[in-house]
This record gives sequence, structure tokens and C-alpha cells, in this order.
Amino acid sequence: MIQRIDRLPVELPRPKNPNPNDAAAVQELLGGKFGEMSTLMNYTFQSFNFRGRAKMKPFYDLIASIAAEEYSHIETVSYAINLLLTGTTVRGDDPATTPLEPAKDARISYHFLASGQASLPVDSQGNFWTGQNVFSSGNLKLDLLHNFFLECGARANKIRVYETVSDPTARAAVGYLLVRGGVHIVAYAKALEVLTGVDVGKLLPIPDISNKKFPEARKLEEEQGLHRVLFRWSPTDFEQIGAIWKGAHPEDGTELLVSEGMPEGAPAPDLDPEPQLTSPDGDIDPQMMADIAKRLFGTATPT
Ligand code: MN
Ligand code: MN
Repeated sequence: MIQRIDRLPVELPRPKNPNPNDAAAVQELLGGKFGEMSTLMNYTFQSFNFRGRAKMKPFYDLIASIAAEEYSHIETVSYAINLLLTGTTVRGDDPATTPLEPAKDARISYHFLASGQASLPVDSQGNFWTGQNVFSSGNLKLDLLHNFFLECGARANKIRVYETVSDPTARAAVGYLLVRGGVHIVAYAKALEVLTGVDVGKLLPIPDISNKKFPEARKLEEEQGLHRVLFRWSPTDFEQIGAIWKGAHPEDGTELLVSEGMPEGAPAPDLDPEPQLTSPDGDIDPQMMADIAKRLFGTATPT
């Protein structure tokens, strides 16, 4: 079971220049072959399908807890896309003024025609994410090798999106994901090392550019040491990740740490209505809301 916390793992600033094609580039990190939808669903299915769990508990715990973290990443990328799309058309309720005209040259029309100017499970070209991106062979060595490759491919895409989009909203999200994806690369490398004795860490970094070159990522690594921490994503379970996540970080030699639970994070941004898209639509009678609050909390305004 998954418990849901109504926060993002990282604080996202409002964009300086909302732009639908910036949002389209970021979509690659959500619904692309190597996007967060893929990492989430790969590790989720691998954890459901894991055989011999009692014998191989640390590996099960690792895959299951990283799967939970990936949910927080699809949320982060979705909100980055939503913020980059907010305000990119003309706000108002008169359809005769062609309020969506600014969207006609946007790379992904679905953002305007099929959603309320918001994220979809598509890549940067608008191709829908598919379950064919999930690899769950049942062979632990093969699945771990695949996951290492998937995280490295994801890292290459993050770097290219960072190089494409300069807006602070996108860069805050991508900087955070570079750090966390870097943790997952090291985690799967360590898992392969524990399982087979191979020193996969010697391959790192892939691609050969340090996270410290990206200011947002550097800040999280140097000030918070976030590249050294693997979260358990549970108050009680997945306690054996520490059998894999230990020793020295292969890139800077710092000590690896397991953190109970999950990141503290920040509130998810509240997205303003877009009346030209009838999003959300309708109105709630303020008197009705006050009556409900009174019934539930014994006061007109909940505290
Ligand atoms: Mn991720
Ligand atoms: Mn990951």
C-alpha cells in the first residue's frame, strides 16, 4: 500500500517566462521512454513481481522503496509542466476573443485541447507513454542492470532538457531530479556490486559530466548532502536497504546514509483557474461552504 502526502519533495518557484514549448521539452522527463513514468512503473512492477523475497530482502527493499520515491518525481515534473503552462493563453470567459490563439503554434496541442493547460503522460513530441517501456524480467541481475541503464538514460535526458530550458521552474525540478537520479544510479550500481562483486561505480558518471556543474544540483549536494541519502519511504518497512546503501559515494567519497521516512519537501503550488479553458468550471456558493465548515468543525471557518 502507498500512503500519500500532499507535498512535493522540492520547492518549485513560479516561472519567469511561462512557455508551452519549454513545458513540452520537460514532458520528455515525464512520459518519455526514460522519463519518471517509466522509472515509477519499472520499479513498481519489479517489486510486485519479486520472487524469493525472504532470501533476497535487501534487493526487494531497494527496488520497492525507490519505486515509492519515483511517485514523488512524476509529481514534481507534472507541477513543473503545469507552472510553465499557466498563463500562456489569455485569461477570460469570452470565446469570441480567441483566447487560446497563443497556443496554436505550441508543439504539444494536447496541453490546450485535451487538458486544462496541464501535464499529460506524453513525451516531448506528444507521444503517449506506454507500458512497453516496462522491463520486469524476473531475473534480478538483469532487472538491476536494466535499472542502472534506465537511470543513466534518464540522466542523459535530464541534462539535455536542462541545456534546452533556462526557466527557474524547470531548472529547480531538473536540478533536484539530477541529484535523486544520481542516487538511484549509485544504488543500482551498489546492488550489482553486492550481488556479483562487479565494480559498476567505476563507470560513473554517465554521461561524463558532474552534477556539480548544474548550480541547482550543486546546491542540494553541497549544502544538504542530498546525493548521499537514500530514503526508506516508510516508517517501518524496507529497513534492509542499508545492506546495499553503505560505504563511500563512488564520485566524491562521502559516506552514504539511509534516512527513515521521506523528504520533508514543500507544499505543492496552487494552480490558478484558467476560465478560457473552463478549468475548473462552476462556482461554489460561499454560504454552502460556511455551512459545511460549521457542521464539520463547529465554526464557520476551519482553523
Ligand atoms: Mn526519478
Ligand atoms: Mn530514479
